[in-house]
Amino acid sequence: MKRSNPKARTKKPHAAIPQQSPDAAPAGWAEILREIAEASGISLLLVEGHQPPALALANNNSICGALQSSPEHVKLCDPYCGEAHARATAANTITHYRCHAGLHCFATPLEFDKDRKLAVIGGRAFVRGVDYRELAERFRSGDLQDLFSDELFRNVIFADEAALDHAALRVSDTARLKLTAPPIAQITPSKAATEKTVEQPAAEVEFPGTEPDHRVASNKLAPAESLEPRSLADSIRRFSEQIDASDPSQTYQSIVARSADLLHAERSSLLLFDESANRLTMTASRGIPAAVADVAPIAMGQGIAGAVLRENRPLVATVDELGQSSLPERRYKTSSFISYPIAIGQRRFGVLNLADKIGGGAYDLHDLSVIDLVAPQIALALERAQWQQRANQFQLMSITDPLTGLHNRRYLEARLAEELSRSKRYDYPLSFMMIDIDDFKLYNDFNGHQAGDRALEIISQCLHAALRKVDVASRYGGEEFSILLPQTTLEEAGVIADRIRRKVMTTKFPHGASQPLGMVTASIGLSCLSSSLNSAEAIVRAADRALYHAKSHGKNRAYAYHPIQGTGRPTSADSQEQ
Ligand code: GH3
Ligand code: MG
Ligand code: MG
Repeated sequence: MKRSNPKARTKKPHAAIPQQSPDAAPAGWAEILREIAEASGISLLLVEGHQPPALALANNNSICGALQSSPEHVKLCDPYCGEAHARATAANTITHYRCHAGLHCFATPLEFDKDRKLAVIGGRAFVRGVDYRELAERFRSGDLQDLFSDELFRNVIFADEAALDHAALRVSDTARLKLTAPPIAQITPSKAATEKTVEQPAAEVEFPGTEPDHRVASNKLAPAESLEPRSLADSIRRFSEQIDASDPSQTYQSIVARSADLLHAERSSLLLFDESANRLTMTASRGIPAAVADVAPIAMGQGIAGAVLRENRPLVATVDELGQSSLPERRYKTSSFISYPIAIGQRRFGVLNLADKIGGGAYDLHDLSVIDLVAPQIALALERAQWQQRANQFQLMSITDPLTGLHNRRYLEARLAEELSRSKRYDYPLSFMMIDIDDFKLYNDFNGHQAGDRALEIISQCLHAALRKVDVASRYGGEEFSILLPQTTLEEAGVIADRIRRKVMTTKFPHGASQPLGMVTASIGLSCLSSSLNSAEAIVRAADRALYHAKSHGKNRAYAYHPIQGTGRPTSADSQEQ
């Protein structure tokens, strides 16, 4: 009965793309890049043709690292950093560009080695706050949601254009000096050069989106308080570290405290949105006389915070602008405040309020743009805290499968019911997947139950690797797994299903070769919420039916449920291959 599958086995694993191949770099250049990158605060890459990989890479922007390591996303970067070497060597001079992610970059050809056409890509820096915010929005609710994680913010790079120019010139100068083989020590930055970089004026920080006069007290930036680019990057990095706590209440308190520090606010508060009650509840505060528990909940749309949440637009205002009566009666020292909605896409988490600027000044556009920079991290931390809180609530009953560490069926059923009602209320898409290992009985029969258990553990690791943070993976029972995909269309779920299927078939299992297809494989059935599939039972049943069709069409396939035919159909041409 054994049937090998040479075509599928020669398929490349769906692994992360390597970012550098340092063995091919000319001697000394890894150190040179590191030193210039350190002095200027930007990313530098030595390249010899299309990249990734680069020959050497220093201080990479973590956002570029995530995009260029991902086989699905690297093509977005190809026309920019991918082709930068070709452009720079053809032009034989420094070329500048701004990539799809809004990052400012340069590429400069190097002439020190006549036998090799080398170039340096530099920058990968946000020069304008608006570029960072637009990209953060793509991660939160646009085409880059799959990559959204804390890791993205590990090394975000901000710089001004002068720092980029300065670094580009230093790279060219170093290459020219290299022609006469100077010791590496010569390129160590002079004190004056370093200070010059630090003294550059701050990057322009723009106000996002809509008409400034509707929402702000003043449209003047405060130059003295403007953050210098590198400290912007540091603030973002530090902020996510500081608000990362394992206890939800500590996370809420840290968000309030660190945001107040960042914005020099004497008072700050965090109101969390309770979707089922459609209201905001004061959850953490600093400098506010009333106890958190004594503050009455605020209905969606009510008062300033309620309106900010409903409109999903921040507000910087003064008492005068809004009229005294609309302000909460809390005896503020100054009349200026910020009310900021925290959301991921359409999903609202709450509102952050900041008031009483230390020193008595008014909040303005610059202050707002500083919160804009850390808002994605606040949203991520709140989402994580909500999960933790829910897990704590479930603690009395077991929600984890002991073998795989995944959630169990009981948790899945509770979450499915909850996500279903949320999706119906807000008209979000919702998809569901059933995954069943192919011929697993044979795997057990040939290799023993213990080997079977180990294979189940490896499958759960495959799921972790292929899924996004928001997806809920569970062991449904035996060798069946289910994935709940909130805010995900059937089409998007199909892409994820194929990713899982490929991940399983390209992963090494100790006895994979003994399987009928020559490797361990899984079949997947998908379904999604629709007018005809609008209960948990119907959605699960439909995914099961699609799975049945994937099995009966040859296994190692992902099939989506077709509501009219009542059968499954392949999610992609790729899913039909054998
Ligand atoms: P198909 O491709 O149609 O899914 O065939 P199959 O052999 O995978 O399906 P079947 O339902 O006939 O067998 C499922 C097997 O999964 C039976 C059992 O030996 C194995 N199994 C279920 N739970 C566990 C477990 O916890 N540990 C181990 N080792 N095996 C398990
Ligand atoms: Mg089964
Ligand atoms: Mg099976």
